[in-house]
Amino acid sequence: MADVLFRNASLFDGTGTPTRPADVIVRGSRIRTVADANAGLEAPGCEIIDATGLTLMPGMTEGHAHLSFCGARTNTDLGDIPVEEHLLATMRNAELLLDCGFTSAYSAASAKIRLDIVIRNEVEAGRLKGPRIRASSPEITVTGGLGDECRVHQNRSSFGLTADGPEEVRRAARMCIREGADNIKVNISGDDFVNPAKGGMTVMSEAEVRAAVETAHDFGRRVNCHARAGGSVRRALDCDVDVIYHCELMDRPSMDLIEAKKDRVFTGPAIGLIFNTIERGPEFGIDEAAIERLGMRLVLELTAGVYNELRKRGVRVAIGGDYGFAWTPQGTNARDLEHFVNLFGYSPAEALACATKVGGEIMGLGEELGLVREGYLADLLLVDGDPTRDVRIMQDRARILMVMKDGAVHRHPRDAARTGGAVAAE
Ligand SMILES: [Zn+2]
Repeated sequence: MADVLFRNASLFDGTGTPTRPADVIVRGSRIRTVADANAGLEAPGCEIIDATGLTLMPGMTEGHAHLSFCGARTNTDLGDIPVEEHLLATMRNAELLLDCGFTSAYSAASAKIRLDIVIRNEVEAGRLKGPRIRASSPEITVTGGLGDECRVHQNRSSFGLTADGPEEVRRAARMCIREGADNIKVNISGDDFVNPAKGGMTVMSEAEVRAAVETAHDFGRRVNCHARAGGSVRRALDCDVDVIYHCELMDRPSMDLIEAKKDRVFTGPAIGLIFNTIERGPEFGIDEAAIERLGMRLVLELTAGVYNELRKRGVRVAIGGDYGFAWTPQGTNARDLEHFVNLFGYSPAEALACATKVGGEIMGLGEELGLVREGYLADLLLVDGDPTRDVRIMQDRARILMVMKDGAVHRHPRDAARTGGAVAAE
């Protein structure tokens, strides 16, 4: 851990307000001082980094992380990979994410029960490089739901953990919590990529969702859900799910309800997967006919409509686009920021606030993570250029000159030019 004075930085503090010239001192794992750049701040014993012309900003949070998704072309790819190889791939993806400026990862689901958990523990112990992680369970799903790849004649697995009825769901959630999960994931709706539960179907019963939420909350954990169908968003809200992903078929009454609960609920569009399925699907066997059949352009349009509305209503939206499939490679996660600007109407600074301020909040650390503020954890990036003018800068790792997490330097500006960085695990 280094004591550092960032001198004369252009500071984006994470709240969404414009940058301002500032000096920032980090002592140990915390931000000690944030002062005007012309305040003549002295910091004995600190390494001084001249940040003139550079942007200092909070580390980002990947709010829909799938660290164990390693270039899957099909859901069963994630079940077919043996646990040993899978753990190593997850490890490499964690390092890659940190390299890309994501100092936190809020997991939307782990493909096997202990993958997120083990990597989280190793990172926390300082033995592996990676973001701070809130580990998730696999996707708890009902028979026939998204993630249940079994057939009567054949046992297959993917990222799902099948449970039917409130008692089985409760048992699955408790088991994942016993093993160390911070988040429980439930698939309330299906998805158009699978059979028989389609995206417009709400297939997990209210009693099952309620069992998962009660169990997770009893243990002080969070619940994430996959909710494409309008009815599934409503069910998630009625059952007090904490993080509601997708939501493109959400109706007006659900918007009113989510707005009323906006201090405790988070949403996330996972827009990267939708966008890239259209853009890159054909390279991976999802041809134009399939894109048409899946209605992906309509899904993109509906998602844009919903998230423009959620933005206007002040609902918290996390960035994170289901990166980890073959056509959404790990390491391209920051592209979501560009989609937030182009599709959802956020200003660049507001989109960055979704990655920083909202990121700290979704991690459950809103009082000490996600802002450049005195006393906050020193998760900081030093960026070549001004991402509050052009968020695409964040997609270029070479321009993220410094990555600091918890006051520890992962990448130092003097090394930035010569490190190639980690690569996505496949
Ligand atoms: Zn996902």
